[in-house]
Amino acid sequence: MAAIAVIAGVGVWTTHFVAMLGFRPDLVLGYDPAVTLISALMGVLAVGVPFSAASIANSRRKSAAWGALGGLGIGAMHYTGMAALQGCAVSHLFFTTLLSLVFGASFASIALGIRPVGWRYPIAVSLLVLAVCLLHFTAVGGARLTPQALDPSSLVFEPELLGVVLSGTALMILSAAFAAVFGQIRLEKREQAEAERLAEQAELLSSALHNMSNGLVVFGADGLIKLHNQRAIELLNLQAGDLVDRMPSRDFIANFAKRNGRDEEWAERAIANHGKWMSQEEVVRVEQSFDDGKVLSISCRPVNGGGILTYDDVSDEREHQRRMAYLAHYDALTGLPNRLLFREELDRAVARAHRGETVSVLCLDLDHFKSVNDTLGHPIGDALLKAVAGRLSDCLRSSDTVARLGGDEFAVVQAGIASPEDATALAQRLIGALGMPYDLEGHQIIVGTSVGIALSPSDSIDVDQLLKCADMALYRAKADGRGTYRFFEAEMDAKMQSRRALEMALRKALQNDEFEVFYQPLVEAKSEQITGFEALLRWKQTERGYVPPSEFIPLAEEIGLIGRIGAWVLRQACCEAAKWPEHLKIAVNLSPVQFKGQALVLDVTSALGAAGLSPHRLELEVTETVMLQDTETTLGILHLLRELGVRISMDDFGTGYSSLSYLRKFPFDKIKIDQSFIRDLSDKADSAAIVRAVTTLSSDLGISTTAEGVETQEQFDRLRKEGCTEVQGYLFSRPRPAREIPAMLADADRRRKPLADALEARSAAA
Ligand code: C2E
Ligand code: MG
Ligand code: MG
Repeated sequence: MAAIAVIAGVGVWTTHFVAMLGFRPDLVLGYDPAVTLISALMGVLAVGVPFSAASIANSRRKSAAWGALGGLGIGAMHYTGMAALQGCAVSHLFFTTLLSLVFGASFASIALGIRPVGWRYPIAVSLLVLAVCLLHFTAVGGARLTPQALDPSSLVFEPELLGVVLSGTALMILSAAFAAVFGQIRLEKREQAEAERLAEQAELLSSALHNMSNGLVVFGADGLIKLHNQRAIELLNLQAGDLVDRMPSRDFIANFAKRNGRDEEWAERAIANHGKWMSQEEVVRVEQSFDDGKVLSISCRPVNGGGILTYDDVSDEREHQRRMAYLAHYDALTGLPNRLLFREELDRAVARAHRGETVSVLCLDLDHFKSVNDTLGHPIGDALLKAVAGRLSDCLRSSDTVARLGGDEFAVVQAGIASPEDATALAQRLIGALGMPYDLEGHQIIVGTSVGIALSPSDSIDVDQLLKCADMALYRAKADGRGTYRFFEAEMDAKMQSRRALEMALRKALQNDEFEVFYQPLVEAKSEQITGFEALLRWKQTERGYVPPSEFIPLAEEIGLIGRIGAWVLRQACCEAAKWPEHLKIAVNLSPVQFKGQALVLDVTSALGAAGLSPHRLELEVTETVMLQDTETTLGILHLLRELGVRISMDDFGTGYSSLSYLRKFPFDKIKIDQSFIRDLSDKADSAAIVRAVTTLSSDLGISTTAEGVETQEQFDRLRKEGCTEVQGYLFSRPRPAREIPAMLADADRRRKPLADALEARSAAA
């Protein structure tokens, strides 16, 4: 401000004084140095100071007032400067003096009152110049100068010299003052830029602080809160006033406890903990759970005796982890523990069992659950599994564990029982409870349960082995007719092992070429002529010799090999039959399992095609079980086969449900009466009655009948009498390898005798 005052004052004074130098040089001989200096000082004090005050005044009115004062100051400076003239006496007219002061004060007041910034700056400067000039010329116009002798003793400045010296001095002062002002302006500008930068940064930090996803509270070493953000208030369930800067941290923790239902004891502990965290060197991380399920991860970074606490909402993450952990250990459908958790529980129960205590493992399997799924759909199947899980849980003590091992398999650990009878009681309870009817979406469903039981330590103390034992016992329960329970027995293991060995061998049998098809003749009862052959599969195993089909066919069905084996038999049989005389048929057995895939029709057509066999020479034998499963699909396939021209026989009739409705559902070409009826034909009247009923019914329906297992002439005669169309049995021939068939046919042809005689002759010759 001082610099501005000097610049303004000296500037005005210099302008004024230089103008004075040109004033009446004929009369003015010199200048009084003291008065000249005073006028210069007045320039600074009476003009510069008010002007600089005007530039920083906080209102226009004040600026205008300071401007008017500065204008009067110019007048004062002018008249003082005139008083310094030497060589003449100066007098002023009152009126011009007054007018000059009015000009100076008014124009200077307007110049500074309009705030000389931007476009107003040149106007203000012009007004100021006008103020100086009007004042000067009005004052000079009213000045009367009378020549006077100069006092030789007085010190007088020569006007020229004074002009040069003062101008030079004024110039120097002005330059220095200008330099100071510019320096000051630059400094102020720099400071202002820095202040702006800091303000911008502070705003940025504040916005970042309040918009960050984490809550933040900074604790000072003096125990006061130094800084916090809004997010901290939200995350900690606080309200306005609960957390403010400069608040004692104790109060903040107490407020937190109050808002979140924690007692004073908790708050004291938390205060002590906060103190501990901040006195440590390491960052401390803890988690805090809330009643509403929110979980906060709190991290405390100690800083200079205080600490920076950040709060992170990890609820979603923890929920996800909890869900993953749940899914890893529980079954999503029933909510029961899964195999993994069950194994862990079993492990614990076995390890915990005291001396004399027994742990029982019960493996359960729903009987015919698959047919519920197949016939009523998966949603009902799922509902049934949930209902089963509920009933299982209701049957158990709290110390027992029930799990769903997968599909319709469940298992129970019965911990710490006194004797196997406890396991028996539980198994009976479970079978009873699960066997009660279920009412699911309007469907009444009844499913039985089979249970296998293994005991620890008697069966095994190894958890995996124990589960295997229970599984074997379950297998036995199912084999023994389902709806029952079985305890594990050591021989089951041996059986299971040999079954497994057989399974391994069966898997290799096809590629090792161990299968062979034998053929047994079908004989027309009336003419005793061979009408065709039934293809019967034989497995010649390297170690065991011939394995009967009753043993390996069910196994092949179970392990999913029957499709490939069945297709192979079809090809072999068709190729063989193609070599026989045209009138001979070939009968091939089909497994119910072959009806489950899409391959059967293709297998049949490709076998016929490859052999070049006419479809009407092929007879396919199906059992009643085929008619029990997924009837729609099965019937569709049977009709497709029939359309190909293939004949369809009902095999082993009388052994299953023997429902006559099957005969209505599909028009079979032939019924094969099971050998059990033929065997008892002469001893049991009911067998004969059944045979008679079937033959009569069949002939009425236009279906031919074949009696299986005919071993004696007596049986044959009886069957002929009952009207059976065809016979098959050892009486005529056992199943024979393919290579023997041509000779058998040639024999029968040559002798033109009934087949039985021919065979008899052959065996007598042998
Ligand atoms: P099946 O279709 O009822 O075949 C007749 C069974 O009775 C044959 O047993 C045959 O050897 C036997 N047999 C024939 N005549 C007599 C007799 O006078 N007395 C006695 N005791 N038995 C006689 P095998 O060959 O052991 O076949 C048993 C069952 O295995 C067959 O019963 C059939 O259901 C099944 N099977 C055989 N080959 C195949 C095949 O290639 N595929 C399928 N899926 N099953 C087959
Ligand atoms: Mg058969
Ligand atoms: Mg049969």
